[in-house]
Amino acid sequence: MTIDSQQIMLNFLRSDLNQLRAYTPHPGGSDGEPVSAIIDRLDTNESPYDLPSEIKQKLAFSFEETIESNRYPDGGHTTLKQSISEYVNEAGANINAANISIGNGSDELIRSILIATCVGGEGSVLVANPTFSMYGILAQTLGVPVITVGRNESNFEIDLQAAQQAIETSQNVPVRVVFVVHPNSPTANALSQNEINWLKNLPQNILIVIDEAYFEFSQTTLVKELPQHPNWIILRTFSKAFRLAAHRIGYAISSPEIITVLEKVRLPYNLPSFTQIAAQVCLSNRQFLLSVIPEIINQKNQLISELSQMPKLQIWPSNANFIYLRIKNTENQEESLTKLTAELKKQGTLVRHTGGGIRLTVGTPEENTRTLQRLQQILDTIF
Ligand SMILES: *Cc1c(COP(=O)(O)O)cnc(C)c1O
Repeated sequence: MTIDSQQIMLNFLRSDLNQLRAYTPHPGGSDGEPVSAIIDRLDTNESPYDLPSEIKQKLAFSFEETIESNRYPDGGHTTLKQSISEYVNEAGANINAANISIGNGSDELIRSILIATCVGGEGSVLVANPTFSMYGILAQTLGVPVITVGRNESNFEIDLQAAQQAIETSQNVPVRVVFVVHPNSPTANALSQNEINWLKNLPQNILIVIDEAYFEFSQTTLVKELPQHPNWIILRTFSKAFRLAAHRIGYAISSPEIITVLEKVRLPYNLPSFTQIAAQVCLSNRQFLLSVIPEIINQKNQLISELSQMPKLQIWPSNANFIYLRIKNTENQEESLTKLTAELKKQGTLVRHTGGGIRLTVGTPEENTRTLQRLQQILDTIF
């Protein structure tokens, strides 16, 4: 039996979902263009390195020997919360398991935050574009209004005046949550002192979410500020520096009161047993796994210096493992970026065209070299 959705009147669905554009997942969408055999996936900001085989063997062993597939996973995440808090405290914080909630990726935590604050017409969220698109997408799926402000075009600092005004004038559906990324995606800038001061001075009846997905690359965190700000949540993920994107695990750090609510609204068995073990094993081996970060940062600096020598590109500094760039002197930036993205894809490099620019993830040295050559050639022949 085939079901033709064209013929079904889907009028039991919420009408606002018609307008919603889904997140385009990795790899690079499905526009039907042929792709070269070598694919350098520099579009989703993961680590370019898979887990080493010693660690995969440990995981395979625990899958065989310790996981009971017929049993539900640990729904309390007690041990893992303990290990995560020890890791977080290495950056000078003083938190414990009661300050942590673990999600099926930080995406799940973002959704839990929205459920706990805004759903049912109670509040709206504020974001500064360009930024991580999931805040807006998840808010829309829950019928939560999204208020957007812009950023300074030279350093991508949030337009704080507009943000302040948006908060002060949002009376019908008050702003309940502000989402910021530290450093921001796709523009790679860490929060400035100005922005941090603004966040510190926001009223306590607004929840501030500081997404530190790239903490291991930026080595800058606001975690020590949490005791002074019970209305702040810091989000982190295992999807980037910890090389566990396939396993879906992220965590929130906040006051015990906020954590209790996030725990209330999450699904009881949100983290598969294998995911919990993978996170535990990676935390135990963190020194080894994170030891490639200086190399990735070196590669980034080298990429930035090479890209700076391409006169047709405009590039920005980066506090993360990716670089944001645009094309100079073009009449139609969006069209040129679309073209550049498509040409790179044809030659075998995937990048993300988003937020008015291209976001290029730092890959392995080989991937970076190939990508630079492809870029140079495309810029020379097409632009
Ligand atoms: C990649 C990324 C995440 C990670 O999301 P997961 O659901 O944990 O994979 C979160 N926030 C930002 C800003 C990101 O770029």
